[in-house]
Amino acid sequence: MVVIAISSTQCNERAMPENHSVPRLATACARGPTRTVSTSPPLVTPLALSTVYCPADLDHVDALSTGDASGFIYARDGHPNAAQLAEKLSRLEGGEAALVCASGMGAIAAVFLTLLSREDHALISAGVYGKTASLATRILPRWGIDHDVFDPALDAKSLKSLLKPATRLIFTETISNPLLRVADLDSAASVARAAGIPLVVDNTFAPLICRPIEHGAGLVVHSVTKMIGGHSDLTLGAAVGERSLIEQARVVASTLGQTGNPFESWLALRGLTTLNLRFHRACETSLELAGRFQSDPRVKRVYYPGLPTHPDFALASRLLNDGFGAIVTIDLVTRERAQTFIRSLAEIPFAPSLGDVQTTLSHPASTSHRGQSDEQLARQGITSGMIRISVGIEDPGDLWREFCQALGALDGIRV
Ligand code: PLP
Repeated sequence: MVVIAISSTQCNERAMPENHSVPRLATACARGPTRTVSTSPPLVTPLALSTVYCPADLDHVDALSTGDASGFIYARDGHPNAAQLAEKLSRLEGGEAALVCASGMGAIAAVFLTLLSREDHALISAGVYGKTASLATRILPRWGIDHDVFDPALDAKSLKSLLKPATRLIFTETISNPLLRVADLDSAASVARAAGIPLVVDNTFAPLICRPIEHGAGLVVHSVTKMIGGHSDLTLGAAVGERSLIEQARVVASTLGQTGNPFESWLALRGLTTLNLRFHRACETSLELAGRFQSDPRVKRVYYPGLPTHPDFALASRLLNDGFGAIVTIDLVTRERAQTFIRSLAEIPFAPSLGDVQTTLSHPASTSHRGQSDEQLARQGITSGMIRISVGIEDPGDLWREFCQALGALDGIRV
């Protein structure tokens, strides 16, 4: 037995230099208050920045760890703002549970690392976001994880023929970037179901207008950074879907440090309150602008799934409800014309992201698809004259007037 000797002066208050019951300033500064007591709850979700939570005792920490008591211990594993955001995102997508991650890529990586093990295989649709493609081509092969690429609009029979015994997931994007190809989610889900593997859908471009779980997806991922956040002031991601898969992904994300923080979760919650108004308005304006660009001879081609000329118009009309998305891509043929167009738009910023309340421009060949050879770009149908427009909530008439002026600047430039 170890006996710890405590001298009487150590515990004896009277031995302290000054007898006092009120904590001194150093103690008062260092401690609490930890709770705001109000019998009336705040209207607005409070921001909970605490890194750590204080269980009452050891039984409580056990109960929190097993889920028998609700609450949190350590913010990387969970905190109130992520839990509130997860609840709302589950509702948005019709999933059983959700996990908030530090970025869209954090969510995609957490899902891939949950579903794929050494020597497994994945089917990934063509034209997915560049970093998702890099994950599949550059990172996962280190663990012998292989993949094949399929056309997102492929029918079930052709997709089934690509399955291998080691295939563990099918991944696609509802609407791809920048060509805005639309995925046949019902076909992909039927193939995944028959093979007993999950279909994972990146629904970043189509919140509200498509609910992939209703079409058979096991998991939906989002770059919350984009439309859901809506104001280009946060970087977050999420995975939504079957509870058992989300709980496995939660362990991976927490272990790898991929979970989202309180402030950005709080901002995303605020963004979500206006998502419906913002996104539907942007979808309406996008359809109008796409039609106008299409009738302008200075634009070689317009990509928008709501135009009957888009190769996936029929699929989009079946899959999407109440809008065709808020991204319009135009082809101005050459880099020089794209450059002039961007420079002429003083009020519409060149900002290589999307989903902001204000309209922004991107040049896929220089940004999202940078680093790919001309041949790789050509194979995907991406030209140096292509501009991706993320449509915001401004007045559509103002936007068209500004775009018209920029198109006017192209008049003297040879195609
Ligand atoms: N998925 C899509 C479709 C995207 O466009 C992006 C980013 O642009 C991502 C995922 C990655 O999201 P994040 O930048 O939040 O990591």
